[in-house]
Amino acid sequence: MKTCVIIGGGIIGMLTGRSLLKRGYKVTLLEKGPFGQEASWAGGGILSPLYPWRYPDAVNRLVFASQRLYPALINELMAVSGIDPERIRSGMLMLGVDDLESAKRWAGQKGVNFTIPDAAAIQKLEPVLVRANAHNLYFPDIAQVRNPRFLKALQEYLRHNGATMLTENEVTQIEASQNQVVAVKTKEGCRLQADIVVIANGAWSGHLLKQMQINLQIQPVRGQMLLLRARPELINRIILQENRYIIPRSDGQVVVGSTVEYVGFDKSTTDQAYSDLRRFAIELIPELTKATVVRHWAGLRPGCGNGIPFIGPHPEIGGLYINAGHFRNGIVMAPASAELIAGLINGEDNVIDASAYSLFRPQLQPA
Ligand SMILES: Cc1cc2nc3c(=O)[nH]c(=O)nc-3n(C[C@H](O)[C@H](O)[C@H](O)COP(=O)(O)OP(=O)(O)OC[C@H]3O[C@@H](n4cnc5c(N)ncnc54)[C@H](O)[C@@H]3O)c2cc1C
Repeated sequence: MKTCVIIGGGIIGMLTGRSLLKRGYKVTLLEKGPFGQEASWAGGGILSPLYPWRYPDAVNRLVFASQRLYPALINELMAVSGIDPERIRSGMLMLGVDDLESAKRWAGQKGVNFTIPDAAAIQKLEPVLVRANAHNLYFPDIAQVRNPRFLKALQEYLRHNGATMLTENEVTQIEASQNQVVAVKTKEGCRLQADIVVIANGAWSGHLLKQMQINLQIQPVRGQMLLLRARPELINRIILQENRYIIPRSDGQVVVGSTVEYVGFDKSTTDQAYSDLRRFAIELIPELTKATVVRHWAGLRPGCGNGIPFIGPHPEIGGLYINAGHFRNGIVMAPASAELIAGLINGEDNVIDASAYSLFRPQLQPA
């Protein structure tokens, strides 16, 4: 049985672990902090890019494949863990879309269900919204997941299925001998032998890759979020306007996001973002003036130029793989990304062509 060490315990690392366990590998996950507490926890859990037609096909191929995988995945995690990750097909209502024609063309070509609601139709869908102007789009099939619950369920699943999960172990070195990976070492003094190593440590992946003579453009991109306590069913759909969104949870909590900030590995929150996000929410839904702000947080997205993640083998070191750089869409792309990397490791003919995610694509520069 081949031993596989996965670096990083976010959604990408953990789902990669699941896909490899299913293929009969012995899996160990190493996480520098607690599992599932970084970007994957901080995200909104929308199971779609915000404006999917603006993304390259390579992103949407993983998105569509993951959207198909999610229902069965949720059922599997729930059956083992008893935790409901609350995948809800809430639909997404986009207001003031200025490239509506491109959106319509894209949705028509891809067979994605949509409508063009006018102000009256929007009022019917969401009566508490302020009166909408023109250029609106509604995608009724877009779903959301409550990502913190999803991550808890996933941890339970992995433990139950025999993965070794080590917290407080920060990988600082990947050892290779004769161009073959042999082990990883952690800051805490642990050395683990491995036949396969997968770098899946999100915004931090660039550091380890640099050590392996690869300079991939993965950088932290901060996103701040607010959580408001409102009444259940105040709104029922995800509302999106000018890159900001409101996500209603089933218990009445409402997530408002998000900022996109290039400030390095700084996870602090700012008063400016607090007031901008709150104002955005109240301008769309005046009733939210009364809602208490329950929490304000920030997470670091693994940012990469055009949003296409890096999924594939290291060009020279046998047994070393990368699954990282999912930027704004890691929750939605994770299941298909995990299947793709596991398929590559296992030498399978993958359903999705892996070349678009290769480390050899043009962004790659020598360190
Ligand atoms: C505010 C915000 C909103 C978002 N909303 C959405 C959304 O609605 N839908 C969507 O699809 N995506 C969304 N995203 C993006 C999504 O959350 C990320 O793309 C995704 O979580 C990335 O997953 P990951 O596992 O690569 O990274 P992470 O979840 O950050 O996991 C990486 C893990 O690696 C660990 N680690 C780092 N270095 C080491 C090391 N040397 N050794 C061991 N462990 C290490 C870290 O501690 C961390 O736990 C959002 C992100 C943010 C911040």
